Amino acid sequence: MFERLFVANRGEIAARVLRAAREMGVEGVAAAARGDGGAGHLRFADRVQALPGDDPRAAYLDARGVVEAARAAGADALHPGYGFLSESPEFAQLVEDAGIAFIGPRPDTMAAFGVKTVARRMAREAGVPTVPGTEEPLATPDEALALAEGLGYPVALKASYGGGGRGIRVVREPGELPAAFAAATREAAQAFGRGDLYIEKLLERPRHIEVQVVGDGHGRVVHFFERDCSMQRRNQKLLEESPAPNLDPALRERLLADAVTLAAAGRYRSAGTVEFLVAGGSHYFMEVNARLQVEHPVSEMVTGWDLVRLTVELAAGDRALPDPAEVVARGHAVECRVNAEDPRQGFLPTPGQITRFVLPAGPGVRVDTAAAAGTTVSPHFDSLVAKLVVHAPSREESRRRMLRAIGEFSVGGVMTTLPYHAFAVASTPFAAGEYSTATVGELGAPPPPPREARDAAALAAVLAEVMGEAGRRATPARPAGGRRPRHPAMRGPYRPGASGAFHEL
Ligand code: ADP
Ligand code: ADP
Ligand code: MG
Repeated sequence: MFERLFVANRGEIAARVLRAAREMGVEGVAAAARGDGGAGHLRFADRVQALPGDDPRAAYLDARGVVEAARAAGADALHPGYGFLSESPEFAQLVEDAGIAFIGPRPDTMAAFGVKTVARRMAREAGVPTVPGTEEPLATPDEALALAEGLGYPVALKASYGGGGRGIRVVREPGELPAAFAAATREAAQAFGRGDLYIEKLLERPRHIEVQVVGDGHGRVVHFFERDCSMQRRNQKLLEESPAPNLDPALRERLLADAVTLAAAGRYRSAGTVEFLVAGGSHYFMEVNARLQVEHPVSEMVTGWDLVRLTVELAAGDRALPDPAEVVARGHAVECRVNAEDPRQGFLPTPGQITRFVLPAGPGVRVDTAAAAGTTVSPHFDSLVAKLVVHAPSREESRRRMLRAIGEFSVGGVMTTLPYHAFAVASTPFAAGEYSTATVGELGAPPPPPREARDAAALAAVLAEVMGEAGRRATPARPAGGRRPRHPAMRGPYRPGASGAFHEL
């Protein structure tokens, strides 16, 4: 086993990896950037190593500086977390060249899957269905127009090097295309360093379903089942669950098998995710996230496997990849991403100091966070403050458990997405497990918190009513004709902004 694991990240994911190190008896080293006021992850570490430089944003992105710090700390392994340098093959190579084990995919695998058009070609070659579209960068708007004609509108222009829900433009008619092409190219060049675009058919109201995989780097891959991540705003995930509700069992088998086939073709090493869109009873490969994902705890809760520990042990050569038969899914898990954002202002980040941070607990509740009362949510970084994850024997129990846990989660000083999560989890489409990537947009913004619900007791009463309401609506089977739940979702006495009571507005 390794002696010292350097965690090249911050926030909740750094805390997550450092916790695993502590449990394994491996010394955990936290990276500290000068001027990172919100570095709550440091308290989870055995040692703290300063990153070079004075700009906290640049420090976590400076590949050479991070490797230098890992070396100075005497680390023999490095975990990149997600975001920052986690998907940079050049960084992974630098780490390995320094004689430090990189807990992640092989650099050549990252380089291939990191270019979305290359990943699409690999999927096709492996016999995995892809979203209709191109495998080469688009040269000109005219080329894009010709291809769009063939695909049929609407289409999506997507950045080949994109990520984090950015770099995607929807084009609904030919007239819009030239301007969208120019804007998307400019934005992609600015955000990802390369302006390359490709084109895909825009699937209407698809589901985003992805498969967690772990590979040994030699072509053996095992899956850890799927997650439904269709509850999204701005193409970014808000909450995730496993298993995906109301998924045809035969379709699930095809998804899982195709994810394993593609990851094996890329000789995938460590943990990763194969993302698909599902529409009209078919699945279409979208991309590979060649890293540990934000929502990995959902898969950990249903399988009982600690994916961070497993991938560290695999990298150390301490164990072999489990057999598929050793990975069994039990019950149902849901995760809410608790971001410091204002859901009523289009999810605008709301950085600031957290003054109160009371975590939920009790059966089946897990919170991944580095924050505490006094922590500053920095405007320089992602607004994710915590991940609230619950597990229960059935989906409905899990959903009610989530509502209960949201009711206990009390954050003061900054606004969070918790009130929105209460609204979304209680909504009819979510309660019925009938939702798509369009649902969050269709639900609209939750109304402002009612004045009378500004204390916890009142809120608890309101939430209890919601659970009763939504539970009664969700449990009876849908009529044989299969009428879809009506939108907008909220009916009855519950006023969705209610859990705003927990926030100092
Ligand atoms: P996940 O499914 O793990 O959430 P996301 O695509 O939402 O994957 O990205 C996770 C985080 O990593 C996001 O918060 C985002 O800030 C960051 N990220 C992912 N890809 C990129 C990228 N290409 N450039 C910048 N940030 C990225
Ligand atoms: P990123 O790398 O930013 O995660 P993805 O290619 O994974 O980009 O797409 C992010 C999200 O954008 C998807 O989960 C989905 O909601 C939406 N999306 C992307 N491509 C399409 C498409 N062709 N049709 C419909 N929705 C899409
Ligand atoms: Mg994606």
